[in-house]
Amino acid sequence: MNRAFKFRIYPNREQQELIAKTFGCVRFVYNRMLSDRIAYYKETKKSLHNTPADYKKEYEWLGEVDSLALANAQLNLNKAYANFFRDKSIGFPNFKSKKKNHKSYTTNVVNGNIKLGTGELVLPKLKAVKMKQHREIPKDYTLKSVTISQTATGKYFASLLYAYEQDIKVIEPKVFLGLDYSMKELFISSEGVPAAYPRYYHQALVKLKKEQRKLSKCQKGSQNRNKQRIKVAKLHEKVRDQRKDFLHKLSRQITNAADRVCIENLNMKGMSRALHFGKSVSDNGFGMFVSMLDYKLKDQGKDLIKIDKWFPSSKLCSSCGEKKAELSLSERIYHCEACGIILDRDYNASINIKNEGMRMTLG
Ligand SMILES: [Zn+2]
Repeated sequence: MNRAFKFRIYPNREQQELIAKTFGCVRFVYNRMLSDRIAYYKETKKSLHNTPADYKKEYEWLGEVDSLALANAQLNLNKAYANFFRDKSIGFPNFKSKKKNHKSYTTNVVNGNIKLGTGELVLPKLKAVKMKQHREIPKDYTLKSVTISQTATGKYFASLLYAYEQDIKVIEPKVFLGLDYSMKELFISSEGVPAAYPRYYHQALVKLKKEQRKLSKCQKGSQNRNKQRIKVAKLHEKVRDQRKDFLHKLSRQITNAADRVCIENLNMKGMSRALHFGKSVSDNGFGMFVSMLDYKLKDQGKDLIKIDKWFPSSKLCSSCGEKKAELSLSERIYHCEACGIILDRDYNASINIKNEGMRMTLG
């Protein structure tokens, strides 16, 4: 199994320059390989198998940065192609832009080239970079790769990916829990408890809008504009951190309380696009929550079950099993005409999800 640990790093001026150069080279190699592949295919109808090494003669400066970072750019491009061929709706690989794309590169552990010291991380080409390690890493974990990134506010981070073996005793599931996705609350559980998600983005919205407006009035290229840009980025960063923190705590609670958690298999990206709820859906971070829940459960020998997205969780009566022919989105109360039960719509759905998970497990 793999686990990532993310720590803040404090590169000196020289190291910052080299990191910036590496971001640039990775982006350059990626884009160059992509455009050559496109051109080659247009001409020959065949695929070109190019590698970063093909460009090192022509662009000598590529040799100044970590070659493993460039190799990972190739792997990422291959992955983007594979994803496209697997599912055309994902779209053809895009060119990386300096403005739009996240600043990061990944390097791998080869022959002890990366070492974790006290308060520092030794990386290829960069040598020792100051690091604030706020968590201990278990001794039997093996370091695989490191991703260096820079946020919009100028902070640097190293995400260390470790592989580990764990003898996990699989728990025989006794306590089941169903979670029904809710745009407002994050979810409603089959225990009738809403996640009571604080909508951090909405809370920060007034302030964000104000600062965003100020930013748009700043003169392009000015010192003030740059200051204001960082101010806006910091607000976004705060919202993200709060959300992550909350989701970590919540997924820990759920993991401790249940043996098997059942959810609907939703396509969050498709959903936010289809329903034009972009902001609310991305505000509540259900996708992030599910992935946290998934690994936390697995660590304890427990499991997350995804119910088929066509399962009529909202239309079924959780009490008698009767299925409604129609149930519009605006109907927030489930009233069963067969048995007379009246329940909150999402609560009813979460019980159905739990029951379906039990059926799948126990037969
Ligand atoms: Zn009923």
